[in-house]
Amino acid sequence: MQAVESEKVKQTFLANIYSIPYGERLAECQQCGTCSASCPTGERMDYSPREIIAALRAGLLDRVLETNTVWLCSSCYSCTVRCPAGIKFTDVMYELKRLGNDYGFKSRKSPTAKMAKSFVKTVDRHGRNAEGELLVRYYLSTNPLSALKQFWFGLRMMLRGRMPFLPHGIKGRNDLKKMIQAATEGA
Ligand code: SF4
Ligand code: SF4
Repeated sequence: MQAVESEKVKQTFLANIYSIPYGERLAECQQCGTCSASCPTGERMDYSPREIIAALRAGLLDRVLETNTVWLCSSCYSCTVRCPAGIKFTDVMYELKRLGNDYGFKSRKSPTAKMAKSFVKTVDRHGRNAEGELLVRYYLSTNPLSALKQFWFGLRMMLRGRMPFLPHGIKGRNDLKKMIQAATEGA
């Protein structure tokens, strides 16, 4: 992860986090830890949800972006429904992913960002997921040698009809692309 060197970028990034719906409630975090205790993937996170809130409030953006926390969030919403301060932490995670991508901040610790990018590219192309292509894209962007280890497993999946040999695109792919483009431009 490259350091957030420019104070202006840092302030803009943090302002974006606070401007999401209910983002102002971050200031009301009581550090009770309910979010961390409720998180099913918390044990694997470098910093728990409670610690991420504390770091954001302290303006420690580098620390937030260096962690694998954002990419281990499974969007289960447990933290959000249980937070006594009404903080929508799941939405904060989504915004961190989006802004991290927009600003070019990538966690070296977690390959999940690359999986997400591969998934988006695959869906962009076919209008739906295509597992084989997704895995090829993912392994090429992370560790191509690992793909060789998965070859026989992938072949067995295909032979048993669990994974198609060729991707099946949806009808009206171009219409979907136009819709996504319009939504992206309006975001
Ligand atoms: S549950 Fe809410 S108030 Fe408690 S630490 Fe988490 S974000 Fe803060
Ligand atoms: S939404 Fe994400 S951060 Fe919140 S409890 Fe679920 S996995 Fe953890």
